[in-house]
Amino acid sequence: MVLEQFALTGKIALVTGCNTGLGQGMAVGLAQAGCDIIGVNITEPAETRQHIERLGRRFLNIAADLSRYENLQSVADEAAAVFGRIDILVNNAGIIRRQDALAFTEQDWDDVMNVNLKTVFFLSQAVAKQFIKQESGGKIINIASMLSFQGGIRVPSYTASKSGVMGITRLMANEWAKHKVNVNAIAPGYMSTNNTEQLRADAERSSEILERIPAGRWGLPSDLMGPVVFLASAASDYVNGYTVAVDGGWLAR
Ligand code: NAP
Repeated sequence: MVLEQFALTGKIALVTGCNTGLGQGMAVGLAQAGCDIIGVNITEPAETRQHIERLGRRFLNIAADLSRYENLQSVADEAAAVFGRIDILVNNAGIIRRQDALAFTEQDWDDVMNVNLKTVFFLSQAVAKQFIKQESGGKIINIASMLSFQGGIRVPSYTASKSGVMGITRLMANEWAKHKVNVNAIAPGYMSTNNTEQLRADAERSSEILERIPAGRWGLPSDLMGPVVFLASAASDYVNGYTVAVDGGWLAR
């Protein structure tokens, strides 16, 4: 029956950057659907652990800095070893730097591109090899942005990285569909998390943004629970390379 296709009972999901914000919301949503969760974080995810263990699911954290390429293979190896397999990867960890394009520095370019794009590709590559070794298929869900579709203002490296995320989502989907690995992305709209703290603190930008959202509110981490469970489940087995906007209608305007 169709609802059974959404169940994730006993699946193992690796979620990067799940100590707070959207990553925490998605980790908890996946656990509610039946997953055990492996987090990858710099900051100890004590609150996330509590939420997940309260649901009766297992939670293990791997402490790692995802801005460093040399850490990625060992993250994938440790994740595969801990519960014996991986079924789902959510590439959520991301950063943003805000500065006028004329004053933007190389450091702000490289830092953002490393975490938001290079790491998404190479961690996906390492986990896809594990999926293929398991002969089980797998699900990769990347976190894109409205700035995968639009230019944005004062966030050059963020726009470049998130536009790149939508592109490599398609590329990885094309190459790995034959291994039953689905690669898709979620593009959140304007969500109330640390990432948008500066925007929400700016009364003028904040009201400009709010006025343009047809749903009339900023998004919440819980708004991503349904979409991530769908893309992680058998219900989306024939969805490949697509970026789903979860934006209260922002892109429809
Ligand atoms: P957030 O609260 O700032 O969360 C970002 C997460 O990434 C945190 O867990 C952070 O850890 C982690 N992280 C950053 N750099 C890392 C690194 N080098 N190694 C390991 N973990 C790292 O922001 P958020 O809004 O939830 O963002 C989650 C994702 O959604 C990001 O990819 C973001 O670009 C994307 N997004 C957000 C919005 C929005 O409106 N909020 C919209 C579109 C897309 P720490 O807490 O330890 O720094």
